[in-house]
Amino acid sequence: MPVPARKQPKPVPKTSNVRANGSLGARTAKPTQPTQPKQLKQPKLDNDPRDPWPYAPAPETVKVAIAPKYGHFINGAFVEPVSGKRFATINPANEVVLAEIAHGSAADVDAAITAARAAQPGWAALSGAERGKYLYRIARRVQERARELAILETLDGGKPIKESRDLDIPLAAQHFFYHAGWADKLDYAFPGRTAKPVGVCGQIVPWNFPLLMAAWKLAPALACGNTCVLKPAETTPLTALRLAEIMAEVGLPPGVVNIITGDGEAGAALVNHPGVDKIAFTGSTEVGKRIATALAGRDTKLTLELGGKSAHIIFEDASIDQAVEGIVQAIYFNQGHVCCAGSRLYVQEGIVDTVVKKLTIRLASLRVGDPMDKNTDIGAINSRQQLETIERYLQLGQDEGAELHTPGGKSALPGKGFYCKPCFFTGVQPSHTIAREEIFGPVLSVMTFRTPDEAIMRANNSPYGLAAGIWTDKGSKILHMAKAMEAGVVWLNTYNQFDAASPFGGYKESGFGREGGMHGLRAYVHLT
Ligand code: NAD
Repeated sequence: MPVPARKQPKPVPKTSNVRANGSLGARTAKPTQPTQPKQLKQPKLDNDPRDPWPYAPAPETVKVAIAPKYGHFINGAFVEPVSGKRFATINPANEVVLAEIAHGSAADVDAAITAARAAQPGWAALSGAERGKYLYRIARRVQERARELAILETLDGGKPIKESRDLDIPLAAQHFFYHAGWADKLDYAFPGRTAKPVGVCGQIVPWNFPLLMAAWKLAPALACGNTCVLKPAETTPLTALRLAEIMAEVGLPPGVVNIITGDGEAGAALVNHPGVDKIAFTGSTEVGKRIATALAGRDTKLTLELGGKSAHIIFEDASIDQAVEGIVQAIYFNQGHVCCAGSRLYVQEGIVDTVVKKLTIRLASLRVGDPMDKNTDIGAINSRQQLETIERYLQLGQDEGAELHTPGGKSALPGKGFYCKPCFFTGVQPSHTIAREEIFGPVLSVMTFRTPDEAIMRANNSPYGLAAGIWTDKGSKILHMAKAMEAGVVWLNTYNQFDAASPFGGYKESGFGREGGMHGLRAYVHLT
């Protein structure tokens, strides 16, 4: 086909007011009329009188390839499930099926543990510096594929893309970087002692931070010379399977990391397998108790990161506007699907009306809806089952006499998918179910206190002990309160801050053991 001759560009009129030598001078040609900027087509916005400055849609437009079906990742390759059975993983924002996932059984778990056992001596025999190199490569690859991972996390789990993009994926990479640094420094972590790997680790994670929880588990285990069989949650397997691809890409020796997808059946098979040397479980207290029972009397190490009902305490002397932002961060982040969510709010009596008023205004400004929109604050609830659980608690709270507030209540939600507007209860008594049980949704119970001692007594009056938050301007009060909290993590004048160097874990029925920091390494070594 003949190539058409290119049009010669028109000579540019001399309109510059800068001379060749750089000095300013008179214009040498008549200035041209400024051209009108092309009018961009304005998207149609909802004409909501309560929201005169609505945000235009800002959808994440990159498409990520998802295979129609996935197998387990065993011994460095994707393999068919022994049973041949699969289940669908769906996008909770619109209920569309994303992929068919292998249903893990005891036979699949056995194959994965066999592969992990065979790979373990070779992996442990590498120098710490060599293991560290692999971890650095994984971290770098997670960073390089961050956008793809963030999109997948949001599609599969329903969390807002801005949270996957700015929190989940960067923190997952951080955990691999951090533990890469420890791999050749274990002698400094445990001075005067020799750290030996535990062996084969079975690791079971929930659906609220799928890739991040996988990183919390895999990174320290690998740094210490262990091999792993990871089981992601049934509703959110996709990023763990992408991580499997990354493991293969960086040349991780086959069998060092194996991933079995499936539900509680696969999890239980992992726990009950005699070839597993350590179980690291993150999930509900109910399942954690079952695992502890199954492992009682067996020489298998165990760490449990379980549920919570964390207390968030606001004193009268706190900066109230900042504290209100802290409340939003504590309970509405990730739709409230956060183990350490500040779901019990204790406000000192004199400021409760102000706090409730400001919280009402702030909640009305939160954008609930399509998680793939970069402006969305509250995305989709992870599953229909979880939505039904939350709705049951919303009804129960009202039946028991508390008052439900849904300040953003009138805005429309997408027609399909699982959504719950952020809300809070007032008139809550400590004996109410909503004040005692973990709801795992965007639901807050507001209560009051008068003195610091009463705040301590009320905060600690829970079977859980994962986290707490305290807002006050007084340094001495901060220290006094922090020491008195029966919680693994206490945030002061902030909430939900995470860092790979900072150990995380619970007290009481929130579990035992720590993940992250130097303390987190302890669960993955035998010391002599
Ligand atoms: P879950 O206990 O139902 O499931 C967690 C994982 O365990 C999933 O992978 C599931 O398939 C698996 N599982 C289910 N039954 C099992 C069994 N009998 N044996 C072995 N494994 C089994 O919890 P969930 O609903 O997925 O997650 C929400 C819970 O996780 C909440 O209670 C939350 O507080 C908790 N959580 C805790 C932390 C923490 O660090 N403490 C972090 C995130 C979530």
